[in-house]
Amino acid sequence: MKFCPQCTQELKVLEFDGVERLACPSSDCDFVYWDNPTPVVAGIVELDGSVILVRNVGWPEKMFGLIAGYLEKNETPEDGILREVREELGLEGQIQDFVGYYPFYELNQLLLVFHVRAAGEIVQGKELEAHKLIQANVLKPWPFGTGLALKDWLEARKE
Ligand SMILES: [Zn+2]
Repeated sequence: MKFCPQCTQELKVLEFDGVERLACPSSDCDFVYWDNPTPVVAGIVELDGSVILVRNVGWPEKMFGLIAGYLEKNETPEDGILREVREELGLEGQIQDFVGYYPFYELNQLLLVFHVRAAGEIVQGKELEAHKLIQANVLKPWPFGTGLALKDWLEARKE
């Protein structure tokens, strides 16, 4: 963000209670760009004992992750992840558990991760380039983002 959305002046770095933030320098305007994290829902989606990993359009060739997406206005996180599962995989899901919340600082996101059990035939949505099913017992979590939730989930499942 470069310009004030309220009065179009160029934003400047100003200090608020010891924290530097982009803000509007105009004395008639109180706009501060807080840059708050964005909530993102993600699902460890299980289908017949396997977990579904997906590659979004535009991701590098070998990169797969959990199904994830932004919430719609007035939508609960549970409804949000079930909608993503429906839209991107063509599956009806059921929430099993809330795995937890995971800050993803690099992307300024707060991930809300659910374990979802799904049934049906996968019909890949337009935001996905590829998907694969990996049996939970051979799944290797990646060390960032949703991978941290997957690691916790896999560990809890062994106990
Ligand atoms: Zn302004």
